[in-house]
Amino acid sequence: LTDKLSRLVKTISGQARITESNVTDMLREVRMALLEADVALPVVRDFIARVKDKALGQEVIGSLKPGQALVGIVNKELAATMGEGVADINLAAQPPAVILMAGLQGAGKTTTTAKLAKHLIEKRKKKVLTVSGDVYRPAAIEQLKTVTAQAGAEWFPSTPDQKPIDIARAAIDYARKHYFDVLLVDTAGRLAIDEALMAEIKGLHAELKPVETLFVVDAMQGQDAANTARAFGEALPLTGIVLTKLDGDSRGGAALSVRQITGAPIKFAGTSEKIDGLEVFDAERHAGRILGMGDIVALVEQVAAGVDMEAAQKLAAKVKGGGGFDLNDFLAQIQQMKQMGGLSSLMEKLPSQLTAKAADMDMGKVEKDIARKQGIIHSMTLKERSKPEIIKATRKRRIAAGAGVQVQDVNRLLKEFEQMQDMMKKMSGGGLMKMMKRMGA
Ligand code: GDP
Ligand code: MG
Repeated sequence: LTDKLSRLVKTISGQARITESNVTDMLREVRMALLEADVALPVVRDFIARVKDKALGQEVIGSLKPGQALVGIVNKELAATMGEGVADINLAAQPPAVILMAGLQGAGKTTTTAKLAKHLIEKRKKKVLTVSGDVYRPAAIEQLKTVTAQAGAEWFPSTPDQKPIDIARAAIDYARKHYFDVLLVDTAGRLAIDEALMAEIKGLHAELKPVETLFVVDAMQGQDAANTARAFGEALPLTGIVLTKLDGDSRGGAALSVRQITGAPIKFAGTSEKIDGLEVFDAERHAGRILGMGDIVALVEQVAAGVDMEAAQKLAAKVKGGGGFDLNDFLAQIQQMKQMGGLSSLMEKLPSQLTAKAADMDMGKVEKDIARKQGIIHSMTLKERSKPEIIKATRKRRIAAGAGVQVQDVNRLLKEFEQMQDMMKKMSGGGLMKMMKRMGA
């Protein structure tokens, strides 16, 4: 696991009671993690203050494992700050429902306009029109035309000699006459917060009365995203945020900053340059990932509940005492994995760096494989399980038939068992216990 993660788990799991001083220690770790994730400093300060209040208050008193309770509070507070669940586009307006795109130049407005058009066509079955109010760069209007075609939506022409407000009026008129459900209005990019351009988009907002005013922000902007968000949030009544380029930013801290500063929900995340690189934003899931530790609370709890400590201790003692690791132990291990709520649910809770690596593993297949292994061991006699070396060809055939598998499946299992046995020999009992403790059990 990541350094950050193990550091945090070590800190929290070792604490018996919550006191002012160890809360400060634990929160220092959380603070570091948030800053490393590129959350803006004022946002971090606010956040830590809220968590501290809760931790020292009622929520932790009387809890058996205050360290875990604290992680729980951190996680809950993260999720609450990020907003609950998912928020789709609001289209509750007299058609055409107008969606205004706002944000800095290069944030991804034009790309996102087309991605949203595709989303609304495919998922919401809407008839969608796009128009560009970016009259400062002719290439920008052409860009919108191209990506709109890719999205399968219709594009309303505009030219650099027009005023954005006139373009908007003409587009809305056209959309109404041709029964479009949605009009997406792309706007001019701002390199930085610029008075004139801010006034222009405010004017567009007043004219269009959009049902959604989306602030598009580049997740890779990190700390700067906070300032941009503040400026746009003050100029416009934002109804939602689209966080782009999340594919390039493993830290994702900008999400917390822009959300807290604007108060608007993050509705979508951009995950690639391609037209289908848009995901409905799942706040709770992202909350856990900001700390780079996945849904660590749930993981800690699952491990604590799922692992039979007594069995683990026995196993550790056996390995330590040179008692040998046999197929019964192997079976016990497999069963513990199942108790932990299934591999796939466990995988979901790991930090994104780890899940990315496991992404191309088919978890359903892995689980089936575990079930098959269990079946094979169950078909063995007790003697075979404790003395696997006696399993030769005849026995293999009998076991395979009993478990309904091929002889090579039995061979594969025995081979894996041997590897595991080797590993167990190398690992001292103390090592195993330490590992379990670190997982919070
Ligand atoms: P605008 O100036 O706000 O209209 O920004 P554009 O839509 O022109 O996007 C700027 C650049 O960012 C382009 O090269 C896009 O392909 C790229 N881009 C936009 N969204 C994403 C995203 O979610 N992921 C990645 N990797 N690139 C993106
Ligand atoms: Mg653009």
